[in-house]
Amino acid sequence: MTEKHEFQTEVSDLLNLMIHSLYSNKEIFLRELISNASDALDKLNYLTLTDDNYKSLNYTPKIDIKIDKDAKTLTISDTGIGMDKDELISSLGTIARSGTKGFLANLSGDAKKDSNLIGQFGVGFYSAFMVADKIEVLSKKALNEEANLWISDAKDFSIKPAKKDTHGTQITLHMKDDEFLNEYRIENIIKKYSNHIAYPIFMDKEEFIPAKTDDESKEIEPSKSEIKNTQINRASALWRMPKSSLKPSDYNEFYKQISHDSADPLHYIHTKAEGTLEYTTLFYIPSVEPFDLYRVDYQSGVKLYVKRVFITDDEKELLPVYLRFIRGIIDVEDLPLNISREILQENRVMATVKDASVKKILSELKKMMDSDREKYLKFYNLFGRVLKEGLYGFTPYKDEILNLVLFKSSKRDGLISLKEYKEAMKDDQKEIFYITGKNSQMLKNSPLLESFNKKEIEVLLCDDEIDAIVMPMVFEYDKTPIKPVSSAKFEEELNQDDFKELTSKIKQALNDEVKDVRVTSRLDKSASCLVYDENDPDFATQQILKQMGQENLPKILPILEINPNHEIIKKLKDNQIMLNDVSKVLLGIAKIQEGINLENSDEFANLLTKFIEKAI
Ligand code: ADP
Ligand code: MG
Repeated sequence: MTEKHEFQTEVSDLLNLMIHSLYSNKEIFLRELISNASDALDKLNYLTLTDDNYKSLNYTPKIDIKIDKDAKTLTISDTGIGMDKDELISSLGTIARSGTKGFLANLSGDAKKDSNLIGQFGVGFYSAFMVADKIEVLSKKALNEEANLWISDAKDFSIKPAKKDTHGTQITLHMKDDEFLNEYRIENIIKKYSNHIAYPIFMDKEEFIPAKTDDESKEIEPSKSEIKNTQINRASALWRMPKSSLKPSDYNEFYKQISHDSADPLHYIHTKAEGTLEYTTLFYIPSVEPFDLYRVDYQSGVKLYVKRVFITDDEKELLPVYLRFIRGIIDVEDLPLNISREILQENRVMATVKDASVKKILSELKKMMDSDREKYLKFYNLFGRVLKEGLYGFTPYKDEILNLVLFKSSKRDGLISLKEYKEAMKDDQKEIFYITGKNSQMLKNSPLLESFNKKEIEVLLCDDEIDAIVMPMVFEYDKTPIKPVSSAKFEEELNQDDFKELTSKIKQALNDEVKDVRVTSRLDKSASCLVYDENDPDFATQQILKQMGQENLPKILPILEINPNHEIIKKLKDNQIMLNDVSKVLLGIAKIQEGINLENSDEFANLLTKFIEKAI
């Protein structure tokens, strides 16, 4: 009995896009099908090594490709785990994995752009409908008796019981045209995307037997050809090969295979550890931002192997969150294959490997920073913000990360490191200063920097959102305290008493808008500025807290500081007729300079108009 099924709506949309949009990179369908076959072989391989029920299973792990030019079909078969009926329906009728969801979320509606996305994301099994108008999937799950045949023309799909000798999956594509019914084309695509999957891929291929020349008779035999079933990929775990035998192009090709990225990586780090603990790691830094970098449900980019056996690619704890842009492989010798997730987290061997990996990646980045600043800047612009997350809380490698972060500066262009900041510090400067806010132009002109500029003290301009959260958690760099500009104490102590009367009157005028009013020596040209109480979050931090969902923050009032040397303040001290209005304007200006929206902008505008009228 044949059962008919509808595709989930998202799948139908996706298939429509695949079929009706322009696409530039159709060939990736093969990469996707081979990668699924390889996953299925991984799963079975793992079970035969860890589960007694599968131990007696006798099979050759491999993938076969067949081209039938007459029938216009391309067939991809594997001896992997296979799918039962329910799995066929759910895996090939709905969208489960976040990669495909991410693809759908990134669609722009512009067919040309979106078809590039297909290449980038892969979009798995369904991408086969770019090249085939009908697909048959014959599958038998290992240890099961019955097999099933799934058939679809992309509109809906049907499923019925079928016969299949061996376990595994056989996918037959009824091709739209001849483009991929060509051995050379297929071989090249496999070499390009799937050369280093762990299993051999076989295909019938015409081989030429070179003509033999017989010197004596001078007779030349005609060359012959014969069809041979040939392995066309290397099928070696690339990360286990000696570095000396690998070319950059080998590394790049392997990267594209494991990351599904179409661009070359920015950098790779291949490490083989021998001795008490044996393991191999191959890490890549991408040259483009992974689409899910800032999503909570991002996918781990690191695959864990034990003795070359694939264990998981779904373990986010393999590297710390602030290194989630890393793609690659960790292959450990000294772990049991059937290690469970829970044990994995507490396992000492694993902890040591993880720790060494983090150290290695961070030190490699430092090397890059010192030897190739241009490349490092590329890295930093892509992933610097993620790396900074490592400064939050009490992470073990804070010092190493501090060596890697870069900042804009109030005194120079470009980005500088903390080391470079320290080297340029004046002899009597004891602290590193920073200011946080929305954009560096505004920060550069902040009244809070006036005294720093006058004294030629450099200030780090922290205009990344994350800076507001992270910088207060960084207390020192290389024994030098790191402080926000608002906490700077300047030498000339002001006698607050001289201004007691004035400041308390201003405070009265601004009653519930400020926490306090006081005179300051931090200002030069400006008459007023805003700071926050030492124990209160500053404005940039408040913004972040709100964004993170802390809606019901208590209202945090700023402190208005006034410049006793400014003409306005001097005059105000002697003549307080307009004190109420002037106080409001002083607060308004200070808010604007901090990038704070004025709640009562109409009142502010009226006041300014009134003052201009008087002045004119
Ligand atoms: P993904 O591989 O990211 O999960 P795909 O669209 O490529 O997404 O495949 C969907 C699912 O279909 C797979 O997760 C797997 O469960 C199943 N599948 C596809 N091809 C095979 C295969 N050759 N053998 C076994 N299962 C398969
Ligand atoms: Mg897949």
